[in-house]
Amino acid sequence: MTADIAIHDAYVLTVDDRNRLYERGTVLIEDGRITDVRSSQNDDADIAAARVIDGEGTLVMPGLVNAHTHLELTPLIGAFSDLDLMEMMSGMTAIFGHIAEGEYDYLTEAGYELAALNFLAGGVTTVNSMDVRPSAGAETFGEAGLRGFFGMALSDLFWDVPVDEQFARARRFIDEYHDTYDGRIRATIDPHDDWSCTRNLWERTADLAAEYPDLLVHTHLLELEESNTMARANGAEDSLALIDDVGLLDDRLVAAHFRLADNEDIRRTADANASVAHCPSIFAYWNTNGDVQWTPVPELRAAGVDVGLGIDDHYWHDSYSMFGEARQARLAANLKRSAGQYDSMELVRMLTIEGAEALDVGDEIGSLEPGKRADVILLDVEQPKFTPLTNIPAQVANNAAPADVETVIVDGNVLMQDGEVKTMDAEAVRDRVETAVDRFESETDWKLGIGVSEPPGAMDVARDLPKRGPAQLLGRLAFQSVRDKFLF
Ligand SMILES: [Zn+2]
Repeated sequence: MTADIAIHDAYVLTVDDRNRLYERGTVLIEDGRITDVRSSQNDDADIAAARVIDGEGTLVMPGLVNAHTHLELTPLIGAFSDLDLMEMMSGMTAIFGHIAEGEYDYLTEAGYELAALNFLAGGVTTVNSMDVRPSAGAETFGEAGLRGFFGMALSDLFWDVPVDEQFARARRFIDEYHDTYDGRIRATIDPHDDWSCTRNLWERTADLAAEYPDLLVHTHLLELEESNTMARANGAEDSLALIDDVGLLDDRLVAAHFRLADNEDIRRTADANASVAHCPSIFAYWNTNGDVQWTPVPELRAAGVDVGLGIDDHYWHDSYSMFGEARQARLAANLKRSAGQYDSMELVRMLTIEGAEALDVGDEIGSLEPGKRADVILLDVEQPKFTPLTNIPAQVANNAAPADVETVIVDGNVLMQDGEVKTMDAEAVRDRVETAVDRFESETDWKLGIGVSEPPGAMDVARDLPKRGPAQLLGRLAFQSVRDKFLF
C-alpha cells in the first residue's frame, strides 16, 4: 500500500459513529483523502509514503470546526474586554458602519490574516464566518490552505447601506468565490439576524437563496427577547414562523444562538432539519440577562438537530481557543442548569463531526474515516499537563489548548508541522496587524496601549452611529412592545 502521508503509532480519536479510539493507530492519506485508519503494525515506520510521521506521543483527531464566527475585527482583540455592555455595543455599531463603507479595509484585511494564522495554529481547520467585506477572508483562508464558509452580512436596520447595494455586493461575492480553492472555500447567504432585518429583507434573502440552491443560509436566531418581538413587528407569530413564512426554515439553514428556543422552536427546527451553532463564551461573557434560560443544547441534540460550536466574535472575549468553547459549553450549562449536561465525547463530537454536519459537510470532513477529506490535527500529549493520559475525550474537552496542536493537515496538505506554520508568514502577519492597529488608533479616538483600552467618548460614538437604520430598529421594537402589552 502506498500513501502520501502516513501517521503511525499515535493515539487516534476517530470520532466515527462508534467513537473508536486507537491506542496505537495509523492513519493513511492519499490524494487529499483518508484511505485507512487502523491499528499500527510493527513495520508501519517503514511504510511506503512520501511523508511518514511518527505519531508516538501525539493524539491524532479531526480538525476542529468553528461553526459560527466573525473575523474582520480580530486585530481589536483586547479592545472591548473591559467595557460595559452598552459601550461595547455602541462602539461596535459605529465601527461596522465604517467597515461597510470600506474605510477600514486595512484593518479587516489584517484581521483575516491574524484570524487565519491563529486558528490554523490552534487546530481549527474549518470556519463559518459572517462578515461585512468577506472577499479578503475567502482569499486569505483559501491561500492559507484552510477551509471556510464566508458570507456577507445583510441587514436593513443595523446600518444605512442601501439594500439594493447590499444584495448586489453579496451576489458578486458569491459569483466570485463560491466553490473556489479546490472547493475549500464556499459562499453562504447571510441575513444578519431576526431582530435587525425587516420582512422585506428576509423575502429578498429568500429570493437570493432560491437563485443559489447549493448555498447555506447563515444567520443569528433567537438570541434575544427582541428576536420574537421584531418577528411580530414583521407580521409573523414569532422568529421561526417568520423564517418559515419566507421559505427559509429548511436544511440549508444554520443559525447561531437559539438561546430562547422553547420546545416548539426545537420541534420546528428538528422537523426542518435546520442546524444550530452554539457559542457559549460570547453569552457567558456578555450576558444581557442572567434570568434568560441557557441555550437548550441537550434538547436540540436529542431532537436530532445538528449542533456545532462557534467562538463567535472572539475579539470580544479574547480567545482563539475552540477547545475552550467545549469547556465553556459544559461549564455554562452545568452552572445554569445542573451537573452532567454533557459527557466529554459529546463535546468532542460538537467540536468536529457535529460542527461539520451543521455545515452540511459531515460526509466530507469531521471524522477520521476512509473516504473523507484529510483534515487532521496532531496534539502533543506527551506533556505533564496530559500525564497520566486517561480519558482522552475529557482531556480534549476540558484540558487541551491551541498551543498543544503540533501539526495541522487540511485536504491532505500539511499546513503546520511541529509548530511551524508552512503556508503563512507569521512575522509578516504580525507586522501588518501592528501597523493596521496603529493606523486605526490614529484615525479614530480609540486609545489602545499595553495597559489601556479606551473607546471614544459617548458623544463621539453617537456622532458616528448610522442615523437611519438603528433609529428605525429601536422605533419598531418600542412600538411592537407596546402592542404586545396592550393589544394581545
Ligand atoms: Zn455572531
